[in-house]
Amino acid sequence: MSSLDAIVSSLNPAQREAALHQDGPLLVIAGAGAGKTRTATHRLACLLARGVPPEAIVCITFTNKAAREMRERAVALVGRTAERVMIRTFHSAAVVLLRQYIGHFPQCGRTPAFSVADPTVQLALLKEVVAERNFDLKANRPESFLWRISRYKNEMADPETLLYRQPSNGLMDWERVRQMIRETDRYVNRLTAEIWQRYEEKLRKNNLLDFDDLINLFTRMLQEQPDVRADVQRRFAYLQVDEFQDTNVAQLHMVKLMTGERQNVMAVGDDAQSIYSWRSADIRCILEFERHFPGARTILLEQNYRSTGAIIRAANRLIAHNAGQRPKRLFTTAPEGRPVVAFESETDVAEAHDVVARIQQGVAAGRRWGDFAILFRTSIQSRPFEERLREAGIPYQVVGGPRFYDRREVQESLGYLRLLYNPRDSVNFERVLNAPRRGIGERGLQRLLALAAQRDVDLIQALRLAVEEGQLQEQAAEGALRLHEQLIRAQAALDRRPGRFAATAEALLQETGYLEYLEQEDQRRSERRAEVVRSLISAMYDYERRSPAGGLGGYLDHLSLLEAQDEESGGDVVRLQTIHSAKGLEYPVVFVVGMEQGILPNQRALEEGNLEEERRLCYVAITRAREELYLTGARVRSERGEMVITRPSQFLAEALRGPGPAAAQAPVGAAD
Ligand code: ATP
Ligand code: MG
Repeated sequence: MSSLDAIVSSLNPAQREAALHQDGPLLVIAGAGAGKTRTATHRLACLLARGVPPEAIVCITFTNKAAREMRERAVALVGRTAERVMIRTFHSAAVVLLRQYIGHFPQCGRTPAFSVADPTVQLALLKEVVAERNFDLKANRPESFLWRISRYKNEMADPETLLYRQPSNGLMDWERVRQMIRETDRYVNRLTAEIWQRYEEKLRKNNLLDFDDLINLFTRMLQEQPDVRADVQRRFAYLQVDEFQDTNVAQLHMVKLMTGERQNVMAVGDDAQSIYSWRSADIRCILEFERHFPGARTILLEQNYRSTGAIIRAANRLIAHNAGQRPKRLFTTAPEGRPVVAFESETDVAEAHDVVARIQQGVAAGRRWGDFAILFRTSIQSRPFEERLREAGIPYQVVGGPRFYDRREVQESLGYLRLLYNPRDSVNFERVLNAPRRGIGERGLQRLLALAAQRDVDLIQALRLAVEEGQLQEQAAEGALRLHEQLIRAQAALDRRPGRFAATAEALLQETGYLEYLEQEDQRRSERRAEVVRSLISAMYDYERRSPAGGLGGYLDHLSLLEAQDEESGGDVVRLQTIHSAKGLEYPVVFVVGMEQGILPNQRALEEGNLEEERRLCYVAITRAREELYLTGARVRSERGEMVITRPSQFLAEALRGPGPAAAQAPVGAAD
């Protein structure tokens, strides 16, 4: 027992009770900074210290970065056994388990070598679908279908549902989905159903799953394959979920089906921080936890360890204006600290100036650049701050900015690897055929695709078959044959040494002439894209070193699941990020910028008169701060080239003036 005592010795009594809880459902609910994540980590350590095998535990975190941190802390508490625990996001857990079990679920039409379609591939497929129906791409934007389909998938609906046919899987909340269907035009629904169906067919034909399918299909597999369900439930005796307030219906089912009768589930969250309803997160999952897991124990944590008294008071006052929140107490024994500062600059440019000046003062007084975070409602707000930081020569990082992996040359290079891994992936097949050009035009591509479908061969085999049957013109045939040889050689190398894919990738990008093609283009346009690809290749070698068992499949999954927070951290730099992406994080000094009506809360929420989620978002922003909090805005802001006079966010008055109906219009500039 003594090792258990040692593990929980740094926790308060309520946290300790939660960490020592072993069997049966448990809900830990608490305001920001009350140590929910810390408690969950200690609970994991306690399970291991009690002798629960690491392979029997699954911990779900909201980001990959949070997963890494939880693993490191657990290792620090109980040693290296913690390395063997599955600590992953919902999507990443679903993807590894699908790979293991999908062979037992052949009716879904995928093999264990499926790939995850990234948004560019999804859009390419949807564009094909829309074009095949001869729809006007402008009037029927593929993006809008993508968005709608994703929403429905998160509700566990299927195309049939849109035609008002209730599916029989019993997993969907039919009332809620019906509401969504009602909100849309009937014609649009019919169209979406049709497009969705064809999009599904394309995914299946390409052996692809999209992001939302990962959870859905895994859940359906558990539901429909009793043998898989039994095996999963036998393997995983304990399940923990952090940030439970942002789970959606599909994820809730995943948890339920994985835990089965035992219901050894520990959920940790804060209903006041539910900020992903636009991605179908359903706050009822946490509010009705006891209904989903009967007999659940609930533990409340009330002491905040993150922030000063002044910051906690502002947060409490603000959230008290929400009627829909479960009432919670949140106190701190930390000193009052510096007052929360609200200031309004003359213009948006001046706001950036003033914020950066404060940061410089802070650094002059002994802080590091990395102590500061600038948080905003939408990513476009970052521009003036970036400009000002650059002018001032201050190192900064836009978390979730234009991503390395979205660059064209990176997508093209990975296209080669994705095709190798999943030779039925037609989108990446097309990418490979065109970069560099091989004399196989659009007609050649269509012939190859048709041939693969007719003869039931994969696309790499189709290259050769087409040549043998004389289906390609002379030049195209030559290109196809050469590419075929190169890909086959690479496949063989991968088969020989599955763990060592980086060398194969490097050789393939050389032999196919892709790198040379980039170098020539770079010279013409004075760019450095070949260098980008070389750094990608060295990232592959790095991955190999860190995850020797991962192989090409593991590497591609790892890339598909990367998120904003996972970008390589730039070290001692000022962070710029959206509030959404800052969830769960903390910084010594936080600036919440653009505190104006129409920004935070945003225009849409104001128009619809539904401010609660915006208020929660502001609550999340405020509670990221440990020592100093600044709430800033601009009196005049340029909008599409015009200068517009703004109004201060009502959340300022609510946070700084105390509970009750918001003061008519608090003068900004007021401190707490
Ligand atoms: P959020 O709602 O923002 O996710 P949280 O409830 O998960 O917050 P944590 O991130 O776990 O809170 O903890 C907030 C901070 O308080 C961390 O720095 C953590 O180390 C510290 N902390 C939590 N509990 C204790 C404790 N008992 N003693 C000392 N520090 C603690
Ligand atoms: Mg947390």
